[in-house]
Amino acid sequence: MTKEDLARYHEAVGPWLIDHIKGRPCSIIRTPDGIGGEQFFQRHAMPGTSNLLELVKVFGDKKPYLQIDRVEGLAAIAQIGGVELHPWNCEPSQPEVPGRLVFDLDPGPDVPFSTVVEAAREMRDRLEELGLVSFCKTTGGKGLHVVTPLAVAKGKKLTWPEAKGFAHDVCLQMARESPDLYLIKMAKNQRNGRIFLDYLRNDRMATAVAPLSPRARPGATVSMPLTWSQVKTDLDPKRFTIRTVPALLGKTSAWQDYCDGQRSLEQAIKRLGKMMKAAA
Ligand code: ATP
Ligand code: MN
Repeated sequence: MTKEDLARYHEAVGPWLIDHIKGRPCSIIRTPDGIGGEQFFQRHAMPGTSNLLELVKVFGDKKPYLQIDRVEGLAAIAQIGGVELHPWNCEPSQPEVPGRLVFDLDPGPDVPFSTVVEAAREMRDRLEELGLVSFCKTTGGKGLHVVTPLAVAKGKKLTWPEAKGFAHDVCLQMARESPDLYLIKMAKNQRNGRIFLDYLRNDRMATAVAPLSPRARPGATVSMPLTWSQVKTDLDPKRFTIRTVPALLGKTSAWQDYCDGQRSLEQAIKRLGKMMKAAA
């Protein structure tokens, strides 16, 4: 893949992609010498940053962060060898307010992909029971992401510690009920045969790869938004690449109802609290 291929890809999918990164600080993974060379995870703007990109100040950091608000900005990222897009999960223009939850399902090396598919469906069902709507995407790598759009309260705003606490508790409950399938500890050596339920994407400054972001991995895979009917045992994440996704995106209804799916986390937190009390 060349930088031009990447820019053309963004031209094709940018109008879809941009709404998921707009208004949020966005780190990028740059591979100036190709994906086999050195890779940088870049959070901040640097001297000479294209004026097609936005700079955003966040509380507690003097240096401005990168932000991409328009499709032309994606071409500017391609031009500097930026392959992956990793936005914050905040509400647009409100870095301190959680805007979505991302549950990152990370399988250990010997876990069949069909087990990850099962885990995503179980996560969806658990979230649905708590009144939340969720969407699934491939990561372009080993696992799957389950994403839950949040509605922002009019009055007192949800905080990141509350959102992270909720995500932790959902994962804890799931891991407690199936300890031989799931774990919530980071330790890589305990993952054998199990799926790490990574709730840590749900924090201030934490990032997750954006839907439709290319990955700097072999095969030029992409983090592909899916319909739940695609999340079944024959799902093959390797099919979704910079070459195939522009045409596939035109035919899918995946994530079309993303904005209609925004729900208040406050109510879900109360429901989960009651469920956990009843179980204790
Ligand atoms: P996979 O399905 O292969 O796990 P993934 O996108 O979930 O793909 P992880 O390795 O689980 O990848 O990474 C989790 C998250 O950590 C990424 O989504 C990214 O936003 C963040 N991340 C990646 N590299 C860095 C880095 N160098 N510094 C900080 N955060 C990073
Ligand atoms: Mn992951």
